[in-house]
Amino acid sequence: MKQLSDTSSSGSSPNQLGDFHSSLLQYYDRFRRDLPWRGETDPYRILVSEVMLQQTRVETVLRYYESWLKQFPTLGTLASADSTAVLKAWEGLGYYRRAKNLHRAAKHIQNVLDGLFPTSSRDLRQLPGVGQYTAGAVASIGFGEIVPAVDGNVRRVLARLFDKREPGVRWLNHTAASLVDKDRPGDWNQALMELGAMICAPRNPRCGDCPVQRWCTGHEQGTQALSPAGIRRAPAREIVFLLVILQTEEGEVMLVRRPDKGLLAGMWAFPEKELPKPLDCSTTSRDRAIRLAMTLGAEVVGHASALSEIQHRFTHLQARYRPWVVPVAKLLTGEGSMWMTPGEPVDFPIPAAQHKVLDALAECRATPDSLESHAGNPI
Ligand code: SF4
Repeated sequence: MKQLSDTSSSGSSPNQLGDFHSSLLQYYDRFRRDLPWRGETDPYRILVSEVMLQQTRVETVLRYYESWLKQFPTLGTLASADSTAVLKAWEGLGYYRRAKNLHRAAKHIQNVLDGLFPTSSRDLRQLPGVGQYTAGAVASIGFGEIVPAVDGNVRRVLARLFDKREPGVRWLNHTAASLVDKDRPGDWNQALMELGAMICAPRNPRCGDCPVQRWCTGHEQGTQALSPAGIRRAPAREIVFLLVILQTEEGEVMLVRRPDKGLLAGMWAFPEKELPKPLDCSTTSRDRAIRLAMTLGAEVVGHASALSEIQHRFTHLQARYRPWVVPVAKLLTGEGSMWMTPGEPVDFPIPAAQHKVLDALAECRATPDSLESHAGNPI
């Protein structure tokens, strides 16, 4: 068995690298998954797929990619789209900053670069939301530039091939760059990712089926399960939010547009208030909900009722939402608020947690007794 050389040594021989390339590319040509963005040459479409795939599973992206392209088939259609329509099309994919950056990038290319899509990884890096990985992927797949694209899958494959417990960013970039196939850089990068996703999985890599097993130091040493060592992440901060659902006798509820900056910026949601920690137990959630409703100018006309708590994980935040339904007389809404009926289709973006509340409310309308009363519950 002949191991590959990483960037710290004098390099692998051309024959060795050639065999390595052919083995992995043959595997890719034969066994790659049939995904809608495979073989795509339009850089806009490649960019859309790469941005959607950031921190998101392929199965989830499959549900969004085609419908996005139906709505925004070209860079120009996305550039001229309304930001509400863009967020609505992204609704449910999460990490909404990606949609906003994609929109900003399209506008920049259309309006500042006269519609000329950047063709190099260096120029692509100048676009909003495009980092080293995305620039490398788009440049190599769309324009044949000989650059690497190191995502989590590639990181794991390289760490195991070279038996590196803690592969640093510099080492990863240099090693990945030294291995890129010069004739098929885009396919090469995708083949490494495919290998990581389908064979060299985080747990229980299928080394017996691996096309590059004979070059793998991790496999030879039996250390593949140890590389790369897990990344230590800071525990997510937990925040408890009180959600106030102002509801009219007809069942309509009021949503407000969130500020343009911060968490879930620009989306439509129930009015909320972050609850202090530790909770002040002298005030019940019901009292807080009624107080917040009155602060919004509502005339409370009945007893408030609680819905079940809903949890949602953001990147660095664990949010717990405590929804309270407060019956009110319908008040006039301004530009940043609106009334809607739970269950009705809407064309504005609503966060996932709030959708769950709307579903619960629609259910409650169907079976009114399911509203749970928490009178006097001091939480
Ligand atoms: Fe991963 Fe095993 Fe292949 Fe090495 S031999 S690259 S550990 S699947």
